[in-house]
Amino acid sequence: MNNMNKTQLLGMTPEELGAFLKEMGQPAFRAKQLFQWLHQGVPFSGMSNLPKTLRSALEENCTDNPVRVLETIKSKLDGTIKLLYALPDGHIIEGVLMRYKYGNTLCLSTQVGCRMGCAFCASTLDGCARSLTPAEMLGQIVCANGVLAGDGEGQKVGNIVLMGSGEPFDNYDNVVKFLRILRMEGGLCIGMRSVSLSTCGLVPQMRRFAQEDLPVTLSLSLHAPNDDIRRQVMPVAKVYAMDDVLEACRYYIEQTGRRVIFEYALIHGVNAAPEQAAELAARLRGMQCHVNLIPLNSVPERGLTGVTEREVDAFRKALEQRNISVTRRREMGDDIEGACGQLRRRYMKDGMMKDAAQAQE
Ligand code: SAH
Repeated sequence: MNNMNKTQLLGMTPEELGAFLKEMGQPAFRAKQLFQWLHQGVPFSGMSNLPKTLRSALEENCTDNPVRVLETIKSKLDGTIKLLYALPDGHIIEGVLMRYKYGNTLCLSTQVGCRMGCAFCASTLDGCARSLTPAEMLGQIVCANGVLAGDGEGQKVGNIVLMGSGEPFDNYDNVVKFLRILRMEGGLCIGMRSVSLSTCGLVPQMRRFAQEDLPVTLSLSLHAPNDDIRRQVMPVAKVYAMDDVLEACRYYIEQTGRRVIFEYALIHGVNAAPEQAAELAARLRGMQCHVNLIPLNSVPERGLTGVTEREVDAFRKALEQRNISVTRRREMGDDIEGACGQLRRRYMKDGMMKDAAQAQE
């Protein structure tokens, strides 16, 4: 059977696997066994406690992981690994595996491209081809664990950031299902405290998510101290006013007890002046929050440039003076096109989509 039509078992809960196996005439206890193998990244052929006939039937009709690693590029500066993955329909997505002293953090994509249209973001330049399935999100982690196993240090991915290509709340149901499976025992077993979800601020979904009992760290891509500037760089700001976004953040804090992180990419001549830091501080006063300053990765296609170290420092100090907790994001993998969407774009320009499809065959 063609890979595209195969059932993606990795995105199923143990209950769903049980129902699926029952149709194949299998006893209920096999579901747990299968669930464990799938999340360990073991191919059907290696699932040693399943009968051979079942293994070959699964092989014929299902995928153990719909994601395949196409290429890995390791930074010589800090060990960061950029991953390029192929999906069953030939699409390419990318991810970044960051190696910290306290563990490994994987940056996941939630869509192929993005349709939010932020002026500074490379992921959105060609729009959104489609959303990823829960299996395709889990599959990125299983693949990254495989890459780490190859390093031979017995490490695994411990933290997840949903900050790759795509807007997680534009793929709401699949992201929620992914998170529910992610924390299950017997699976990857990654708790919500080890997950960050970044959104451009889709207010209704933020409010709904606050009630899902999935207390991840919410990162809000703010990038502006007021609606005027925000609308210049983020089309979504024309739909939701900053006041409503901040109110949804307060609601999230209230419901989950977790602080919100505001992402702020400093763009030269747009949002990086000290007066703008003062305005931002006034808007955030009294909130249980933290500001993460990101020096913009220049996007030549859009004519936007980053700021100097001095400008970052001045902005940071202006926030600190007003008692806003702030850090400057550490840049990782600077030598390997670590920023969202950059590597994938170069790949697509080189006409590598065909290779991706072949790699899946
Ligand atoms: N759609 C989600 C998550 C993906 S982007 C969101 O908007 O939050 C992850 C983060 O990288 C966001 O804060 C985004 O605004 C930021 N980002 C995108 N392009 C960037 C660039 N060129 N330089 C710096 N940060 C960028």
